[in-house]
Amino acid sequence: MATTWFDHCPFCRIVHGQTDTPILYQDDLVTAFPDIRPIAPYHFLIVPNVHLESVNEVEPAHEAALGRMFSVARRLAEEHRIAHSGYRLIVNTGPDAGQSVFHLHMHFIAGRHMPFRA
Ligand code: 5GP
Ligand code: ZN
Repeated sequence: MATTWFDHCPFCRIVHGQTDTPILYQDDLVTAFPDIRPIAPYHFLIVPNVHLESVNEVEPAHEAALGRMFSVARRLAEEHRIAHSGYRLIVNTGPDAGQSVFHLHMHFIAGRHMPFRA
């Protein structure tokens, strides 16, 4: 089978069910799964199903998926009973922010105190 561009994107491979990564949530717009190197007791990634390299590629047509990412964050917080203890949502964009995977993603991090403040 011919190699497609998304064979080289780890998050596209997860979205398309080509890995063993457990899927925490998936619908027509977004997918959520655990981060492979968690930095907190709860560390999930929420991604749009469509391949966007970063926020720098976001257009109005993507707003439904971006909004869904937030409602899935709320859903994950409630499912894990951490809505009230709190959680942090992070979207790293570009080199200064340390983005390392170039498929737009929201980190959902919780379960410990996070002293660094923006
Ligand atoms: P960034 O630094 O780009 O904001 O975050 C990328 C995140 O993706 C990192 O926290 C890293 O641990 C995670 N990650 C990288 N490759 C994979 C993978 O193949 N599967 C999963 N589940 N997470 C990954
Ligand atoms: Zn991708």
